[in-house]
Amino acid sequence: MRYAILSDIHANLEALDAVLHDAASQHIDRTVCLGDLVGYGADPQACLARLDALQPLSVAGNHDWGCIGKLSQSWFNEAARQALLWTRDRLSFAELDALRRLPLVATEDPLTIVHATLKSPERFDYLMDVAQVVDTATMCRTLYCVVGHTHVPLLIEYSLSRKAVTGFLARSEELRDVHLTLDASTRCVINPGSVGQPRDGDPRASYAVLDVDRKTLSVRRVPYDVATAQRKIREAGLPGILADRLAVGR
Ligand code: ZN
Repeated sequence: MRYAILSDIHANLEALDAVLHDAASQHIDRTVCLGDLVGYGADPQACLARLDALQPLSVAGNHDWGCIGKLSQSWFNEAARQALLWTRDRLSFAELDALRRLPLVATEDPLTIVHATLKSPERFDYLMDVAQVVDTATMCRTLYCVVGHTHVPLLIEYSLSRKAVTGFLARSEELRDVHLTLDASTRCVINPGSVGQPRDGDPRASYAVLDVDRKTLSVRRVPYDVATAQRKIREAGLPGILADRLAVGR
C-alpha cells in the first residue's frame, strides 16, 4: 500500500495541482490529508473540490476550525485572521459543512493521522520538542503517526521498549528514499511538510510518499507556479505578506 501524504495545502491551487500531478506518477493507492485545507491562499473552493474527488483519509487543521468558528479568531495572527474571514465569506454552506465534519484524529491501520499532536489535538500545539514527540509516539496505537502543522518535513523513529528516539531526519535532502528500520515497538512520526506554504526555506511544494509494505518514505519537493499563486492572493485583496512568503518558503 502506497500513500500520498498531503498537509497544509492552504488554498494554494497551483501548489496542489503540481503535487497531484507528481503523485500521479508514484503508483499511489490512497491519499491522506492532514488538514489546513484553507486559509492564506486564494483558491479555497477549487482546492476543496480537488480533494473531494480523491476522498482522502482526512483530519481538520486549526485554519479549518477557525473558518467554521470552532477555534477563536484570537488564536490567529492578523494576516491569518483576515484570510480566514475572507475564506469564510467565499465558501458555500456545503463546503463549510464538509470542514465541520472533519475529525481531529483518524486511524486507518497502520496509520494514525492528526494535524498537530495526539496529546491535545484540539489545542493545535506544535510538535517541535522531544516531550511532544514522546507524548504523541507513546499515545499512538499504530506503527505510523502522521502529523502536519509545522510546515516543515520531519521523520522521527521512537522505540517504545527502549523509551528512546532512535532516528531523526529533518531535511528534505535526507528524506529521499529512506528505508525505515521498524519493529513492533517502534513508532514512526512523519511530517510531510506543507503543500501550499512551505516554511523550511525551500519554496517548492512538499509532500510525502509512504510505502508501508516496502517500509520506505520519500519527501518529494515539487516546483510550482509561485508567481500565479502570489498574483491571485494580491488580486483577492489578501495581506501581501501571504504572497511574499511563498517566494522564499518562510
Ligand atoms: Zn498550516
